[in-house]
Amino acid sequence: MRSSLKGSSLNAGRRARELDSLGREPVDVLVIGGGVTGAGVALDAAARGLSVVLAEKHDLAFGTSRWSSKLVHGGLRYLASGAVGIAHESAVERGILIGRTAPHLVAPFPQVVPLLPQVNHRHAALVQAGFLAGDALRASAHTSRHTLPRSRRIRSQEVQRFAPTVRTTGLRGGLLAWDGQLYDDARLTIGIARTAAALGARVLTRCAGEQVTGHGAVLRDELTGRAHDVDARIVINAAGVWAGQVAPGIELRPSRGTHLVLSQESFGGLTAGLTVPVPGSTSRFVFALPAPDDHVYVGITDEDAPGDIPDVPLASEEEVDFLLETVSSALRSPLTRADLLGTFSGLRPLLHTGGDSTADISRRHAVITASDGLVTIVGGKLTTYRRMAQDALDAALDSAGITAGPCSTRRLPLVGAASREVLEAVDAPARLVRKYGTEAVVVAGDAGRAEAICVGTETSAAELRFAVQHEGALDEDDLLDRRTRIGLDPITRERAVEAARAALQSPQPIGSERG
Ligand SMILES: Cc1cc2nc3c(=O)[nH]c(=O)nc-3n(C[C@H](O)[C@H](O)[C@H](O)COP(=O)(O)OP(=O)(O)OC[C@H]3O[C@@H](n4cnc5c(N)ncnc54)[C@H](O)[C@@H]3O)c2cc1C
Repeated sequence: MRSSLKGSSLNAGRRARELDSLGREPVDVLVIGGGVTGAGVALDAAARGLSVVLAEKHDLAFGTSRWSSKLVHGGLRYLASGAVGIAHESAVERGILIGRTAPHLVAPFPQVVPLLPQVNHRHAALVQAGFLAGDALRASAHTSRHTLPRSRRIRSQEVQRFAPTVRTTGLRGGLLAWDGQLYDDARLTIGIARTAAALGARVLTRCAGEQVTGHGAVLRDELTGRAHDVDARIVINAAGVWAGQVAPGIELRPSRGTHLVLSQESFGGLTAGLTVPVPGSTSRFVFALPAPDDHVYVGITDEDAPGDIPDVPLASEEEVDFLLETVSSALRSPLTRADLLGTFSGLRPLLHTGGDSTADISRRHAVITASDGLVTIVGGKLTTYRRMAQDALDAALDSAGITAGPCSTRRLPLVGAASREVLEAVDAPARLVRKYGTEAVVVAGDAGRAEAICVGTETSAAELRFAVQHEGALDEDDLLDRRTRIGLDPITRERAVEAARAALQSPQPIGSERG
């Protein structure tokens, strides 16, 4: 099977051409911020036939969109707090991602709660009731049992098959439920942005939005310092935790979530999400999640993070200890700092609504239209990016009195997407199909570059070249920290730098579209 890149390729050549074209005429929609939300808005607008510029100060998925737990939630957590509408919305969006728009990147994912002595019978009954409510949500969102099986009680042996290092003393079986898991969050963002680019959107990284109003902005090329005036009929601020810096008057109350990165060896080959209750709580859990490159992510925390917003948030010592202790409470031998490969932390872009703690703040997304027409979209989550984009754009079109086509992103597959049957038939290694979908044939076709670039990662030189020529990677950081996630393990990152440099110098384009 061949895969055509059909105008979706992002690279330095296209960026230079599109930057040069700025300012010639007003655009319909200017989006500030290239996280999952901004990319989603750009895609929705381009799919409605509008002209679009997306300006991202650093790189696609530079912000929170690469620091998530990489789960596509069915909204169970919202049900627990009685937010049925948001829970249903999450379940619907999960079904759209798994079934149509990104079946290559989002896979059904089993999660196991081991019933250990610290989970008493009442607590177990509560978790089971929650899982049953999750089944009902799935059914109400019309996601079939074939895609996401029903939750069920499992025996101790089955718990151990999923999680070989789980404690066996006092284990009375487990509870199993299914949700969605992303291959990688940054790759979802890049896939959305490239799909927008295929529909004509100009996706400009290293391009900061300054003096942003409802009618345009100055876009500063961070590589040359050159400023471009852009007039727009609609401007949407999707700058995540930085939204308040783009639109004065927007106040955020970020909370930090941290994950640890460990090796699969430390878990004896984990094949499900291991869900461990936080001692003393019936509603908080720590998760151990199998991840690419034989990693396991252990998260997450929820810490108030007031003050200045760093470009890259860092885990605190207390968070690391808390996560290690909590996950170890379910394991035969405790994990220690010696097991750690790395950590990552992200800030949730929560709107400040006046309460005292971040737990009081609505996790639903908010669309705010300023008096000059500037529309800000914040909050929400990765899972609901498509719906957030639709709501923001509908509000902006309405406020500007512009008529455009209806939203069509529910049925619009992202680059590389195809049905599960088609994906199974793609003539490329399964790992590449999970990462690239139908485009895996292009990467696999780069013969002679299929070997892993170094110890500690499965990434090949062919993948790095593809990232430079088609996925908009402009430098080593883009390659190691967002197109791949090699950077999550700093030691492997050191080893991989040379291969990243070589890919950036590589002269020959691969695939069907040249830069
Ligand atoms: C620890 C953690 C775990 C999570 N886990 C999950 C999960 O498992 N599932 C889920 O569905 N959701 C999850 N979420 C939520 C989800 O990650 C976020 O809601 C989502 O990524 C926010 O995306 P965004 O595009 O709004 O913000 P961001 O990704 O932060 O994007 C904003 C972008 O704007 C850019 N920018 C800023 N200022 C400017 C400017 N002046 N000009 C141009 N660009 C600018 C930034 O560089 C950045 O790239 C999690 C969040 C956290 C923190």
